[in-house]
Amino acid sequence: MSDFWLNFQLLIFNFQTMKGLEFPIVSTKVPGLKKKFDLTSPKGRKDYFEAKVGDEIGHLRNFLDKNTFVAYLLGKKNSGKGTYAKLFTEIFGEDKVEHVSVGDIVRDVHTNWKSFANSDDYKRLRQLYRGYISYEAAIKTLLGRSTKTLLPTEFVLALLKIHIEKLEGKSIFLDGLPRESDQVSYSLYFRDIINYRGDPDMFVIIDIPEAVINERIKYRVVCPKCQTSRNKKLLITSKIEYDTKSGEFYLVCDNPKCPGARMEAKEGDDTGIEPIRDRLQKDDEIMRNVFSLHGVPKILLRNHVPKVEAREYFDEYELTPEYSFIYDEEKKKVKVLEKPWTMKDDNGVDSNSLLAPPVVVSMIKQLFDVLNL
Ligand SMILES: [Zn+2]
Repeated sequence: MSDFWLNFQLLIFNFQTMKGLEFPIVSTKVPGLKKKFDLTSPKGRKDYFEAKVGDEIGHLRNFLDKNTFVAYLLGKKNSGKGTYAKLFTEIFGEDKVEHVSVGDIVRDVHTNWKSFANSDDYKRLRQLYRGYISYEAAIKTLLGRSTKTLLPTEFVLALLKIHIEKLEGKSIFLDGLPRESDQVSYSLYFRDIINYRGDPDMFVIIDIPEAVINERIKYRVVCPKCQTSRNKKLLITSKIEYDTKSGEFYLVCDNPKCPGARMEAKEGDDTGIEPIRDRLQKDDEIMRNVFSLHGVPKILLRNHVPKVEAREYFDEYELTPEYSFIYDEEKKKVKVLEKPWTMKDDNGVDSNSLLAPPVVVSMIKQLFDVLNL
């Protein structure tokens, strides 16, 4: 095979993902860096980011001292949008960046309606709102929270504006808009709407195979006391126990702020992505829609890599492990086994999944380019 042809095929292979859309693999390798970092602790992550993208972080820090940006997070449900925003905030500080979740804001107003109705925000919302249904009707929809009737986008935008006005010029990761295809064009003018006029803005689009979403739901367990969420296969706690009666292994919550409890699966989670298939389809549509937009820069994140290339671009500790357990009858102890998790991406290619920190490394590198630092 000629070199040209081989390179051409490699190129195609490198970019092939999410059925037709191109997401580059951004390597995190640093020449000569052999150290293994503990990505589960804040201190380990701090050292890791410093070693992998310390230079970019320095420049970004300077930028964030005097400027702000607006990033629109786009990814299928359960793709880890919140996790990436949280890690970014961990690096740059809560005084610099805010993860603005549209769903959380709407839920919050709904849950605390009585106090909201008596606040200045309520008056301000009434002033700001303009749309095709009356303000009263929009409020009714909000309080009824029927999942069938959608809140008017104009109403959601007014709520967001009020929320963002209080952030005192922090950079923003907006999560949850656009949520419908007809909302995509709003994101083109969003920075004007919220008075971040001179800000650079960009889409951050996450590519995640459905197999990953499926297993994240299927093996999810939650602490009944503190609601901490973990995964029996992909994200375990430090304490695993064995139920001799049922022959089942279970995670014990190790949140330091929690007294600890047996973590349980939620009803229906065993069916995986099936119940959210429509939502995933819609998310897919919106991402394709945004892909075809011009003028707004795009940061493209993939949380998976073809297995045959994983070691070339990433270090082993950056790959999502898969855990399994064995019970030692004699010692009455649970043994934890660990290996890189292999699954098929949406094109049927054997792939490894990346832990969140290496994806954030890719985000920082691309953000550095987008901002021309
Ligand atoms: Zn707990």
